[in-house]
Amino acid sequence: MKAKPVLQVQNLRTYYKILRGYVRAVENVSFDVKQGEALGLAGESGCGKTTIALSILKILPPGGFIAGGKILVDGINIPALDEYEMRMNVRWKKIAIIFQGAMNALNPVYRISEQIVEAITLHEPGVEVSEARERAMKLFELVGIEPSRIDNYPHEFSGGMRQRAMIAMALACNPKLLIADEPGTALDVIVQAQVLKLMKELKEKLNLSMIMITHDLSIITETCERTAIMYAGKIVELGTVKTIFKEPLHPYTQGLIGAFPELKAPRMRMVSIPGSPPDLLRPPPGCRFHPRCPYAMEICKTKDPEFINLGKEHFVACHLVQKK
Ligand code: SF4
Repeated sequence: MKAKPVLQVQNLRTYYKILRGYVRAVENVSFDVKQGEALGLAGESGCGKTTIALSILKILPPGGFIAGGKILVDGINIPALDEYEMRMNVRWKKIAIIFQGAMNALNPVYRISEQIVEAITLHEPGVEVSEARERAMKLFELVGIEPSRIDNYPHEFSGGMRQRAMIAMALACNPKLLIADEPGTALDVIVQAQVLKLMKELKEKLNLSMIMITHDLSIITETCERTAIMYAGKIVELGTVKTIFKEPLHPYTQGLIGAFPELKAPRMRMVSIPGSPPDLLRPPPGCRFHPRCPYAMEICKTKDPEFINLGKEHFVACHLVQKK
């Protein structure tokens, strides 16, 4: 039986209004995340990955707004909710986020216990402080930190422990979906591997759904079942991790994977994708990748390729694939 989607994003458009016009950061993006599944969102910096996460939680910075599309969580359309409904019914309870750089996300002047207890009592007003504290200690145990450390300040923890504390905090109100935005950034490789292993274990144990945002493809192969590849605000290819890494069809996906070193492959010069991503204030017409694509055709300069389903959960937006 197919798992039910926890999140459905349909034709999402998110823009930022600036003095010179609108930055079209996310354009017609559609995907879903099933119960207990981890979906990777990968692409170069500025491709819109984080904007999707901020749109799902409606925490866009000033100037940012959802210009169209639907974000469905348990049948509720997020863009239609007001701030109070988001705070009381969605954030933390249904969807939680772990930001990159735990030291920036934790408040340095409050004990970790106070921060977790506040999150619980604010979103679940009936819960007493003592009960919330007990829950916080259990969460510490769950993420592998000695519960007696609950009253420490963030600066008393190592980088890895802070990231674990952030994960504990994100799980405080039992969300169904956890969004991790570059969870390994700022950690050394060994601690990063431990944090990712923990997230994988939690996903299995709690049947959590996850969105893993990263530019590091190895994190996706380690933790996700499916992945979406983003370029200039659009998803250009989506499929199982095996399909995307073994048989990538979109020229951008092929370039991205080709630019990544393989541990077991023979030594070779890395090939990067020439050029740089477009200015999203005035993205190029047609396929947004055409100025950098080695296979660009005339049609690519004028017609935006449709995002088509090739079967077996493999979607791609490229004229070249559609011509075959
Ligand atoms: Fe390249 Fe054209 Fe495919 Fe875009 S649509 S990736 S330009 S071949």
